[in-house]
Amino acid sequence: MTVDSKNPETIVLHAGWRADPSTGSVAVPIHQTTSYQFRDTEHAANLFALSELGNIYTRIMNPTTDVLEQRIAALEGGVAALAFASGQAASAAAVQNLAKAGDNVVSSTDLYGGTWNLFANTLKDQGIEVRFVDPADPAAFRDASDDRTRVWYAETLPNPKLQVFPIAEVAALGREMGIPLVMDNTACPVMCKPLEHGAAIVLYSTTKYIGGHGTSIGGMLVDGGNFPWEEFKDRQPALNTPDPSYHGAVWTEAVKGIGPVAYIIKARTTLLRDLGAAMSPFNAFQFIQGLETLPLRMREHNRNGQAVADYLSKRTGVSKVIHPSLQDGESRNRADKYLKGGYGALVGFELEGGLEAGRTFINSLEMFYHVANIGDARSLAIHPATTTHSQLTPEEQLQTGVTDGYVRLSIGLEHIDDIIADLEQAIDKAS
Ligand code: PLP
Repeated sequence: MTVDSKNPETIVLHAGWRADPSTGSVAVPIHQTTSYQFRDTEHAANLFALSELGNIYTRIMNPTTDVLEQRIAALEGGVAALAFASGQAASAAAVQNLAKAGDNVVSSTDLYGGTWNLFANTLKDQGIEVRFVDPADPAAFRDASDDRTRVWYAETLPNPKLQVFPIAEVAALGREMGIPLVMDNTACPVMCKPLEHGAAIVLYSTTKYIGGHGTSIGGMLVDGGNFPWEEFKDRQPALNTPDPSYHGAVWTEAVKGIGPVAYIIKARTTLLRDLGAAMSPFNAFQFIQGLETLPLRMREHNRNGQAVADYLSKRTGVSKVIHPSLQDGESRNRADKYLKGGYGALVGFELEGGLEAGRTFINSLEMFYHVANIGDARSLAIHPATTTHSQLTPEEQLQTGVTDGYVRLSIGLEHIDDIIADLEQAIDKAS
């Protein structure tokens, strides 16, 4: 029996799993196994030939991870998902699945620092050029593209600027050209569903809100099944021409009979197979636990995030507060269009005292953790210029919106009075 619901609160508890058929176990078991017994040689041959779907080896698939993948795919309204060892691995795969040496990608400048480095350096070394454009201008994606552009890439709610990306506007331009939009939705799960706005692929660092507990690193790609790859044979050769690494399979044809899953099947059967950045079954189990309370937690994160933004915007010693609720014009319109249920729990601010005040503030925090993470149940703070964005050049830092005195907060689930009391005493010391 499966529970069919469109409501996130129900999906995260029921999609993809009811109970273990042999033991009756209600909790999803941790299938800590490397491999799976084939029934006979015909069964094994069918699995390898993809004429029958089933478990082969945990680097490529695992029953615990499968439940997590199904739940997140259902939550996003996608057709299938693929878990990775980290968000970074998912980002690399999102691009490498379509682009090879000589191809290019157009990406928003407003990215997590690690993704920026991956794109500006590592993918470049592999011969894939990433062209960075201003996300505020949808046409910039089209203008930066040529006939070797395979992917467009952006974050829904990128920090530090926290300006919501125009998903529908950019996705529509890409669809005219045969270029899929990959949306990193890490900062706003449940609040935004990029596939509903025309994105083709959704990406998560599950390390953040999806886990929420801060125990495990992981990543996820969700295939919307909504992109007409076969209509753009020249633009998307990776899915439309024989793949020598899989006995000449043409992925759009190979999946006929399974569903519109060419993108995600190729990623699983070639990139996971060859690069091996698979999520461990134990981490998948951890993310399943986190996912169960995600919609509930996001409501509280939103409530506390809003209260902190309101508090900081009235507080002396603070020169600037960055939160979608405090924006106006086009940025605010986009926040209202794409974020539902609140404006998120990431809040940026600058202290009047600049770099020194920022340091004193961070060192004075008593309850907030000083860590390089977001989306934890606990409140977190960091000074990006000296940490997450420190490997960027000063020009790159400014392009991504990081200034010397900028502090990023990820507001957690503690009582709001305690969150504000800690901020208050640390700002007092820094003022
Ligand atoms: N995308 C975003 C928006 C992130 O914030 C991060 C990590 O901070 C990543 C991707 C990378 O994820 P991971 O740390 O799981 O590799």
